[in-house]
Amino acid sequence: MSAGDLYPALLEIATRRVIEPVIGAPYLTVAQWLRAFERWPDEGRRAWQERRLEDVLASAAASVPFYRSLLGRGRRLQLRDLPVVDKALIRGDMLSFRAERRGRRSYVQKATAGTTGDPWRYELDRRAWAHVYGAQLRAWERVGYRYGDRIVVLGTPPSLVPGARSLTARLRAAAERRSYAAAGIAIDPGESARRVGHAYEARGVLWYGYAGMVAAMAEAARPGSWTSQGPAAIVTTSEPLLPEWRRRIERAFGAPVVDEYGCNDGGVLAVSCPGGRFHVAENVSLVEILDGEAPCPPGVEGDVVVTNLHAEVLPFLRYRVGDRAALGDGPCPCGRPGLTLERLGGRIGDRLKLPDGRELQFSTFGPIFWQTPSVRRWQIVQSVRERVKVRLDVDPAFSRAEADEVRRGMVARVGHGVEVDVVTSEPIERTPAGKQKVLISSVR
Ligand SMILES: [Zn+2]
Repeated sequence: MSAGDLYPALLEIATRRVIEPVIGAPYLTVAQWLRAFERWPDEGRRAWQERRLEDVLASAAASVPFYRSLLGRGRRLQLRDLPVVDKALIRGDMLSFRAERRGRRSYVQKATAGTTGDPWRYELDRRAWAHVYGAQLRAWERVGYRYGDRIVVLGTPPSLVPGARSLTARLRAAAERRSYAAAGIAIDPGESARRVGHAYEARGVLWYGYAGMVAAMAEAARPGSWTSQGPAAIVTTSEPLLPEWRRRIERAFGAPVVDEYGCNDGGVLAVSCPGGRFHVAENVSLVEILDGEAPCPPGVEGDVVVTNLHAEVLPFLRYRVGDRAALGDGPCPCGRPGLTLERLGGRIGDRLKLPDGRELQFSTFGPIFWQTPSVRRWQIVQSVRERVKVRLDVDPAFSRAEADEVRRGMVARVGHGVEVDVVTSEPIERTPAGKQKVLISSVR
């Protein structure tokens, strides 16, 4: 066994014997169990989910006031009878949604980073956290990562940067040999080039970061100027990965990109596959795609509604997470079984609302920029229905022909009733946490 193999082997033993019992969350045990779980027949995985669902429903019925109030005399809660809830509803009435009986050791205090402008503190069962993190570790294992390999964290993705900065979280981050490459949100060429240098020097097996930040690194990288080996894979997260970003990143760093979709509150994790879909982590939650309260057929976009299979302190039952997606139709071309999402539609509200009543989501506009090689990134801003502005961050080689191409592409999609401005002089707006939203509409 070489020295390179030794550390992961030791960390695995230490994690199973010491770290997991101390923090009360068997995340590595879950990750390893998933290797077998994923090979179970469909009925077996369904039955396992049903048993977990019965447990969380029984727990909610017994000690969560909101759900107890829905119980008829002597009846059990049924998932399909439960109302769809969301963050605003729960946050506005935490006393009704929290379990009255909860052991202080059984949950962790979580906070969303407020990337969508509405930060939130909430309780998450340690077991629920272990299942999300375990599913993440298992997904990374598929692309060549082994627990204990070095991870380079690019920027400040909320799911990997210990938000609470608790001692155990920091110790675990150190044990996992995470290297934080120039945290912060600036993505100018100088900062991006420094980040590339750091990432190569850290010799991470996995790079993990915001899609837009990694795309900016790909632009700033000078291929061939690095002597150390690049990553086995690059995991992008937290913002929509544009097709042109994926191509640029893979070309610049010679490693496959795996796109991760997840949200901590509610609990859902889905990871992209070579078949072009997202595989949902079935050990974490049940996922429904709904139009109002009605299920959408495969291929039709609707609201992502999740039921966490482990959250009992603050149950997330039929919880609308605020994202849009469509279910995959039939088995995935990659051959892996299980529930898939065909595409992700971005945050609810991130759509242009046109005078004729149509609403267009960001992915509609992606193809416009396939023919404009000098456009580094774009952002569409709408303040009134009749007018949209396209902000472009461009190379010096950007030409009038490309600007015309963008304008034509926009008009073809939004129609002639909408005025289109194409500007290269305004900075691309980012959220306080550094996410780039490709589409910002203040039209309600
Ligand atoms: Zn697949």
